[in-house]
Amino acid sequence: MGRIHVLPDILASQVAAGEVVERPASVVKELMENSIDAGARRIVVEFQKGGSCLIRVTDDGSGMDRTDALLCLERHATSKIRESMDLAAISTLGFRGEALPSIASVSRFRLSSRRREDEAGTLIVVSGGKILDVEDSGDAPGTRIEVADLFFNVPARRKFLRGELTESAHILQQFETLAIAHPEISFTCRRDETEVLRLAATDDLAVRIRDLHGEEFLKRLVALAPLESQGVRVSGWMARPGEGRSDRSHQMLFVNGRMIRSPILSQPLREACDGTLAKGLHPPAVLFFEMDPSAVDCNVHPAKREVRFRDPGIIRSVALQAARSAWERSAPLEGFSPRVGADPLFPPISPQSWKSSAHSTQYELDGQMHDSGRVAETPESISNSISASGRDDSTFLARYLGTLSGRYLLFEEKESLLMLEIRAARERLLYERFLVRLSQGELESQHLLLPEILEMSSADLAWIEAHRSLLQAAGLFAEPFGQGAHGVGSLKVDAVPADAATLPVMEIVVRLVDELRTLAEAPALDRQGREALASTVSRIAAAGASLPDGPEAALMLLRQLLAAELPYVTPKGRPTLVQIAPGELQRRFSA
Ligand code: ADP
Ligand code: MG
Repeated sequence: MGRIHVLPDILASQVAAGEVVERPASVVKELMENSIDAGARRIVVEFQKGGSCLIRVTDDGSGMDRTDALLCLERHATSKIRESMDLAAISTLGFRGEALPSIASVSRFRLSSRRREDEAGTLIVVSGGKILDVEDSGDAPGTRIEVADLFFNVPARRKFLRGELTESAHILQQFETLAIAHPEISFTCRRDETEVLRLAATDDLAVRIRDLHGEEFLKRLVALAPLESQGVRVSGWMARPGEGRSDRSHQMLFVNGRMIRSPILSQPLREACDGTLAKGLHPPAVLFFEMDPSAVDCNVHPAKREVRFRDPGIIRSVALQAARSAWERSAPLEGFSPRVGADPLFPPISPQSWKSSAHSTQYELDGQMHDSGRVAETPESISNSISASGRDDSTFLARYLGTLSGRYLLFEEKESLLMLEIRAARERLLYERFLVRLSQGELESQHLLLPEILEMSSADLAWIEAHRSLLQAAGLFAEPFGQGAHGVGSLKVDAVPADAATLPVMEIVVRLVDELRTLAEAPALDRQGREALASTVSRIAAAGASLPDGPEAALMLLRQLLAAELPYVTPKGRPTLVQIAPGELQRRFSA
């Protein structure tokens, strides 16, 4: 007898669930997408204990009759495609007929559904893929699906669920993504019996963006004049020039209603910002790309997060065109912009820029200058020529010459010219101090005289809540503070990292959250985690560095730097100090 056999249906569904249902948030995504496909005008999402205990999605969409309600639990049962031709032009979010049976096979599942025209609806009770009961139900028209005890029968998967707070944050992120794509639908979200979001239907995307992310965020965006080119329509909102964030969670790019992460879309946006945005920053955006469904293949990723474009070149060029056209229409916001958006490495350090929170909107771009100015020797050669005397105050003979463009300190030392980049030097010094401090506990924080209240999306709030101890280690003490009128929530900030306290609170929080979020799952505070945290906070805090006032302070900074463990580079490898040796100068001035 052969060894190969066909898997029973339930087992096959559980296997499929491995791909479709990564975590509770995936269930929320599939159920919400089904509701959207069913033409719902109103969708309510409820969950308990990070979704592992209960997820319930209720809609007022088309509903199903009894036959369909039973059929939709069969594998590969879908109303959305019929023949393979249809696969080439999918206009709905679902099409595989896989989600419901997969979810039902790994949970205690209840579906009740009723079409408007039917007198009674149907309730189906399923456990671990087995149908236990089918009966009439008296629910309102539409569909309600309850998923309880996710993975109760697949202990291996249940073990992989993260903490309740982390899973909740993922669910809210998913919820907000779909809500932003569908302003025309009203959404409610209840978490552990508390309403956390209520979004009224609107025909204005700006209203939905504001409801979710707050007025401040919206102000940083500019509306795109709708654009149509080469069969692709683009609409939405794009960051103003100079606005950037270090993670991409505020870049929401949709292709035919589906949120997609793809360099084909994000790179052109980044390219449009070259010259106004530092490396490593991404412009926030909410953009919708609409095209003939046959121009894009959505059947390439288990969770449909990726697509394949028939002609990526067209998409790229239209995305670039869209971003640029948005920019032609907009100037940076007065007295507003670089708070969050400016080049994090090289904004000018001037007394004004750190004393007032309303930074000037002007800043130079210095990538180039920095590069061409780097007539440096290798760090080792600097080290050879300075450290022998530099580490011993009595023989240290540097002479302070002055500052250059508010960013560099110039010194003469044994006929060499030393150029110190203030921010980089501070970053190195803070980093080493933070590392020591973190091995003993938390970084120092400074209490605010009055707590500051910031607007924040619920997903961001949930992330902050889930990573509170990490943020506290960084010196940031903040907690969610009730809900706003619509959906956007507030964060109450009580204390900030002491060394960053000259910066606006909003900037500190946004940069900390963004940068820590890019460290994938936030670091545990082992040695590596401490290094990552120290590096992040030192970079942020150094942005608040002021010019040393006077020669004494300048020399002190140089001396401190030279006494550091690794004086010549920042934790990220940027040079802190550049030396031009006498020979180099002579060469330059020779005929
Ligand atoms: P797919 O969405 O890929 O078709 P699903 O397993 O998610 O597969 O759903 C199967 C079918 O069940 C759908 O094609 C649709 O006909 C029906 N269905 C699922 N959810 C709903 C809902 N909320 N309202 C109406 N019909 C639904
Ligand atoms: Mg579906």
